Amino acid sequence: MKEIYLDNNATTKVDEKVLEAMLPFFKENYGNPSSMYSLAQAPHKAIEDARKVIADFVGAKSSKEIYFTSCASESANMAIKGLLEENKNKKHLITTKVEHPCVLNLHKELEKKGYKVTYIDVDSNGDLDINSLKNAIKEDTLLVSVMTANNETGVIYPVENIAKMVKEINPQTKFFTDAVQAAGKIKIDVSKAPIDFLIISGHKFHAPKGIGALYVKSGTIISPLIIGGHQERGKRAGTENVPYIVGMAKAAQIAEENLKLEETKVKYLRDKLEQGILKNVFNAKLNSTSANRVVNTTNIGFQYVEGELILLHLSDLGIFASSGSACTSGSLDASHVLKAMGVPFTSLHGSIRFSLSKYNTEEEIDYVIEKMPEVIEKLTRISPFQDEIEKLRASHKA
Ligand code: PLP
Repeated sequence: MKEIYLDNNATTKVDEKVLEAMLPFFKENYGNPSSMYSLAQAPHKAIEDARKVIADFVGAKSSKEIYFTSCASESANMAIKGLLEENKNKKHLITTKVEHPCVLNLHKELEKKGYKVTYIDVDSNGDLDINSLKNAIKEDTLLVSVMTANNETGVIYPVENIAKMVKEINPQTKFFTDAVQAAGKIKIDVSKAPIDFLIISGHKFHAPKGIGALYVKSGTIISPLIIGGHQERGKRAGTENVPYIVGMAKAAQIAEENLKLEETKVKYLRDKLEQGILKNVFNAKLNSTSANRVVNTTNIGFQYVEGELILLHLSDLGIFASSGSACTSGSLDASHVLKAMGVPFTSLHGSIRFSLSKYNTEEEIDYVIEKMPEVIEKLTRISPFQDEIEKLRASHKA
């Protein structure tokens, strides 16, 4: 059976060259990088070389601004909790309603601990209400967190302008951005704006799962989240995961070289898939028409059909995509991102995210465009909304 992987915002396949770069650090260069003997030299140097690569990848001035972690969720917790710990007098935080749970759920936890959080709305395209954000910044606002690109819709937020705006209103307020879905898709450059914190995750750009990084602008003080040894200049204890650090740096170099490929090949395939589905499937509706989206992502609602059923049928055909809903205690919770956009219930539960990578081919995309109408036809037959479905079918033909 074919295997067509269209869930690259969930995770990506490890690049062969990344794996090759990692292997020596499992084999001959296995020493603990903190040790004094010669066996530690190669791993120690590899970490510092990788730190420089990641610094360049995000536009950091110095590699001292980069900390390696186990994932982006850890990076977010390290930055935000670490900042709060150092600034106990300020209790106001601002974020958006469409952040990844590693930021959103952390803010919900902080509310329980007495912090006041303002959650900024998005419009029906997924674009941010910048005016509300501007008005929300107050004297005691410690941190504003806005993601660079959304994982479900691909919408890119103007974080450079937002960071500048935040500092103009309150120079003491820190700015955090989750660039996990931007890394490898658009150029990230913290030097262009007063960004204090930025997080990335290796497994979203063809490195393995289990490695992340945190950029902390020099001069910004955070307390460590993991206390123990002196690693990562005392900010993140634990023996460094040398092969994975090396892998993420290699993946970052490849991603940087491939940015043009994303803009051309990946965008061409994403647009072809999107247009093909919208043309051939009568109940398909694009969930975000924002002009500014990362080029690999499309989120399409199939009205009056259950998204989980679509995924199962696609999986039977060897096509792997995702829905935004999370199965919690037996009930299907709709995506918080699509809810924030006000996507109507008719397509809220039938929305599918297709996210592509450099490994997808035109043949695969043609196959998905061919199979999608068949899958939806099957599922609409068992939908209880037959009258509405007929109306949609008629208006699609017209
Ligand atoms: N932020 C965004 C936008 C994501 O898409 C993800 C993963 O899906 C994360 C953060 C968390 O990344 P990690 O799995 O490395 O913790």
